[in-house]
Amino acid sequence: MLIDVILPFAVEGTFTYLLPDSCPAVPQTGQRVVVPWGQKKLVTGIVADVKTPMETGNLDIYKPVFSFPEDYPIVTSAQMKLWQWITRYYLCTIGEVMRAALPSDLREEKTSRQLKKPDSIGKIQSAHPLNEEQLRAKNEVQKAWKTTSTVLLYGVTSSGKTEVYIHLAQEQITQGKKVLYLVPEIALTTQLTDRLRSVFGDRLGVYHSRFTDRERVEIYKNVLAGDKYDILIGVRSSLFLPFNNLGLIIVDEEHDTSYKQQDPAPRYHARTTAQMLGSLFGAKILLGTATPAVETYYNALNGKYGLVEMKQRYAGLSLPAIHLLDLQRAYKQKKMEEHFSYPLVVRMREQLEAGKQVLLFQNRRGYNAYVECPECGYVPKCANCDVSLTEHKPLAPDMPSRLVCHYCGYSIPAPAVCPNCGQGIPVDRGFGTEKIEEEAVQLFPGARIARMDTDTTHTKNAHEKLIRRFADHEIDILVGTQMITKGLHFKDVSLVAVMKADAMLNQPDFRAYERAYQMLEQVSGRAGRAGTEGHVILQTSDIDNPLYAYLKKHDYEAMFAEQIEQRKMFRYPPFHRIIGLTLRHRELSRLEAASRTLYERLTRVFGTRCSSIIIPAVGRVQNLYIRQLTLKIEASASYAKAKEMLDAEVRYVKTLSPCKGTLFTIDVDPM
Ligand SMILES: [Zn+2]
Ligand SMILES: [Zn+2]
Repeated sequence: MLIDVILPFAVEGTFTYLLPDSCPAVPQTGQRVVVPWGQKKLVTGIVADVKTPMETGNLDIYKPVFSFPEDYPIVTSAQMKLWQWITRYYLCTIGEVMRAALPSDLREEKTSRQLKKPDSIGKIQSAHPLNEEQLRAKNEVQKAWKTTSTVLLYGVTSSGKTEVYIHLAQEQITQGKKVLYLVPEIALTTQLTDRLRSVFGDRLGVYHSRFTDRERVEIYKNVLAGDKYDILIGVRSSLFLPFNNLGLIIVDEEHDTSYKQQDPAPRYHARTTAQMLGSLFGAKILLGTATPAVETYYNALNGKYGLVEMKQRYAGLSLPAIHLLDLQRAYKQKKMEEHFSYPLVVRMREQLEAGKQVLLFQNRRGYNAYVECPECGYVPKCANCDVSLTEHKPLAPDMPSRLVCHYCGYSIPAPAVCPNCGQGIPVDRGFGTEKIEEEAVQLFPGARIARMDTDTTHTKNAHEKLIRRFADHEIDILVGTQMITKGLHFKDVSLVAVMKADAMLNQPDFRAYERAYQMLEQVSGRAGRAGTEGHVILQTSDIDNPLYAYLKKHDYEAMFAEQIEQRKMFRYPPFHRIIGLTLRHRELSRLEAASRTLYERLTRVFGTRCSSIIIPAVGRVQNLYIRQLTLKIEASASYAKAKEMLDAEVRYVKTLSPCKGTLFTIDVDPM
């Protein structure tokens, strides 16, 4: 007998092996199998198909399988269908999907650990009773599910959506069904997990990328066994767990961009994939957010999704008051302390004296940060990428600072004198979280100040600890990146300040405006929860931008109306679908030849649906030059057909000798 095996490589299709007659039983689809690869290597794969060969003559061209770690499938037939769908939709190989879907311990030969029997079962406690508004929302969601499988629960920040989710989940569980609760990042889960744990006890599973592989294998096997968890909370990769009998998938903060996997393939979006997974089980989908993605809200308005709104904050709280601060004027009138405007300093002092907490938001770590020689204007750049280096302060005071590349990690010691003119002392022109923290320490002596960004939270549990310390009011001022915008609930935060709100708008991306609105509304939503009056100060150099007028009124609908017009006019989603193509090569001339060839061929097929060749803002990363092309396909056209035609062209161009060595990346529905 022959078996087709999926191997975790970026190579197309499956691989055929011979099943020796000595094998005690015929393996099942989805079972793990260890097979020889190359001359002296063994790899673990998944059985895709078992078949009897038509003729028996030339079977010795196939290598025999080596072993089977278990005698039962670890990939279910629903998972297999999902893998195949992802392969087709996102134009990747099934091996790439396998690599994303299985914890690495399950992909390696070393673990043949058997399934552990589930532990004792915890008691479910009762959830908080719903108030009138929540009860109405819950009933409306259930009613909407009768006509459409996907419903958008659009509720303002602090409207109490989580309790609605909990009640809907409980009803599924009572019917013997399982629930998957997706969250964008682990940042969200600390407080949420505590809340869910208090309701679901041991019947709650948690799955995220910061777990060790061993822990992830354990959860994978528990889900496969099917009797340990009723509800599982996890990040996007939890869509790949071996569910059975799924009744509901909640996609919380559905607008969040971290639901999209960027690299490596499969470049899938969790919201889209959740809908596919749900359809395999006939499960309901609930998308929840205070700031829907433009595409989602459009689908809800057009009846593709159900729409349920919650416009009131929980317990009669009002939405935070938003104050704009004109940075241009403040600089002109010299009413600035470094990056803090006078009114912000005054308001912060008031709040700190009143025993309240303050959140300071700076878009990114080291965003716009660079080092410059004041004498000759020299800016140190990365050796491998076309980007300037960012100064990172030393870990200990006696160590020198380093200049770091945020794209590839390249770093050098900060030069004491300018290497260009030998005169000036290069200074940090940066405006990242580190700088804001430093300035806050100077301005507010005595206040307890901490910083939350990827630099301070890369160790395990560092993030959870920071959140708990802030929640316990052991910190007065927390400086952070978008990490602090995500669904966190701190009762003593009365003031949130955004240090430079327009930084988010100045990005060459059709979603920049929508994202800026979402991020600012979400960060504002951290102010004034649990009875504290909330204020938000947005410092901006672009005070007349209509975005701020919408934010002041918390008027998402007005922002949406403006954006949807733009999307229509410039052929963007939801009216057109986008496929991004990236080409990379070490040699610029070869890259240019490849991109020109591909461009010409695509233009012949797709006409003006293909963009001209784009040189990205950062045109070289890790010694590879980069070019891009974008396809815009009408929403009414066959997406599958368009992708098939595109795929054929890319395959052809790959075979041409002048294009040799070019790396091609296809990103379906890029974000
Ligand atoms: Zn210089
Ligand atoms: Zn670099």
